[in-house]
Amino acid sequence: MARRSPLFLLPVDDSSTSLLATLAKLARLCPPSMKKPTSLLFVLALSSTAAFAADDKPSPIGYSDTPIIPGTQWKVHDIDRPRPEAVKPADKLGQPPADAIILFDGKNADAFVSKKLDEKGKPTKEMIPCVWKIDNGELVVEGGDSWTKESFASCQYHIEWKSEPHTKGNSQKKGNSGTFFMDLYECQMLDCDNNPTYADGMTGCIYGQTPPLVNAVKKSGEWQTYDIIFTAPKLEGDKVVEPAYVTTFVNGVCVQVHTKIMGPTKHKNVTDYSGSFPAAAPIRIQDHKNDPPVRLRNIWLRKLP
Ligand code: MG
Repeated sequence: MARRSPLFLLPVDDSSTSLLATLAKLARLCPPSMKKPTSLLFVLALSSTAAFAADDKPSPIGYSDTPIIPGTQWKVHDIDRPRPEAVKPADKLGQPPADAIILFDGKNADAFVSKKLDEKGKPTKEMIPCVWKIDNGELVVEGGDSWTKESFASCQYHIEWKSEPHTKGNSQKKGNSGTFFMDLYECQMLDCDNNPTYADGMTGCIYGQTPPLVNAVKKSGEWQTYDIIFTAPKLEGDKVVEPAYVTTFVNGVCVQVHTKIMGPTKHKNVTDYSGSFPAAAPIRIQDHKNDPPVRLRNIWLRKLP
């Protein structure tokens, strides 16, 4: 009776560890005449060829015979589902990717406007070109709040800021600024390096509502970064039917995780979503009259659905 080759007695597997195990089994099962290293290598080569031949089959790039994903028009792995466009990321983390809207890159403050102040220093309703000066490629926050010219809703937002260690005052008077999404919801920027203040006023908080999970600020005098995913409220007409949310990173540390914003942020007060709300609005950056002023750099955003 013809002797069956051990090759056909053992399963072929595509992992190298299994191949080694197979080789060991072959060594035990082979007749003495095949126990020479060259014979075993030949068997191993055959097994490998068979294994890699199975991998030559192209992987499907989509399917059309799969179930619909609930809540969508698309099937699982749908071959017709539009693929996301390519976006070139920045070479260095924190720099704007190719599809970002640049709000400030050190050259000019053209993306912003300010309010003209009256003789008592109070803001009027008249909008004027941004009064913040640029020094050393940095935006010096002095002369009142500023607003983006363009209106935004949901977005991915990046900003860097610095407060000098010798800034006068304490608590909310020291190194205070902030970004108000839609001109209503403040994500706080504050010198929180050895500067005690109330929890819902610390850097990374939703002001007056939710403290940051941790205090992730660097030392005063160092540049701090904010990366914020802001989800605008959902509206029916001008009424809010779903609140706004934020996910926030301070210096790369997550301090808010899809946190609900309860309503417009206020000093010493609570709010809700009563009344009319816009679908989009300018972003406001706060001048809290620090001495010396807070400085900003590298501000950009990406619109999100
Ligand atoms: Mg503030």
